Amino acid sequence: MFQLKSQISNPKSEISSLPVMEHFYTLQGEGFHQGKAAYFIRLGGCDVGCVWCDVKDSWDADKHPKHEVKSLVGEAKKTPAEIVVITGGEPLMHNLDELTKQLQAASFKTNIETSGAYPLSGSWDWICLSPKKFKAPLPSVIPFANELKVVVFNKSDFDWAEKYAALVSPTCKLYLQPEWDKATEMTPLIIEYIKAHPKWELSLQIHKYINVP
Ligand code: SF4
Repeated sequence: MFQLKSQISNPKSEISSLPVMEHFYTLQGEGFHQGKAAYFIRLGGCDVGCVWCDVKDSWDADKHPKHEVKSLVGEAKKTPAEIVVITGGEPLMHNLDELTKQLQAASFKTNIETSGAYPLSGSWDWICLSPKKFKAPLPSVIPFANELKVVVFNKSDFDWAEKYAALVSPTCKLYLQPEWDKATEMTPLIIEYIKAHPKWELSLQIHKYINVP
């Protein structure tokens, strides 16, 4: 089992409430943990600006009510979840030290999905780095990725994926995922690319196929 606990000290570690767009118990639909039950916490706030973003409602953090960290952990504890996924938005726009500290104290595995555009905070069991062309990841975040997940929107994204594959750690898992609206066009290209470059694996957004959030 790959396990990386990254603890980055940050002076703003006392954040006790965070803007939350939604939180729910479901199956992880993407990447290494695809198919596993997980409690998702989707934080508000993102300025990365992906043109194909499927959660644009998350962008304005002020539109989303602040939730106490303690109550979020309490909600997750009402389920049998073993993994909590922190996503967004871009979750690293917020300091996540307190949230991950309380989640791990409650015995949850802490996973994050991030573009890497902001400094790492929090203590993580799994970091999924999904870099975006619209705002590049910080070099300081890249070595901590357990998983590199590149969304393929057009053919030039293969070269871009290789650029980041060369920067992550040797143990980092590598995934190519078709952008949802381009999946019919891009999935066959991704399949051929993976056959030619077998270090990569295919990630599909299975939650959209099985109709769960
Ligand atoms: S980083 Fe994520 S939430 Fe932000 S614009 Fe891109 S896809 Fe949307």
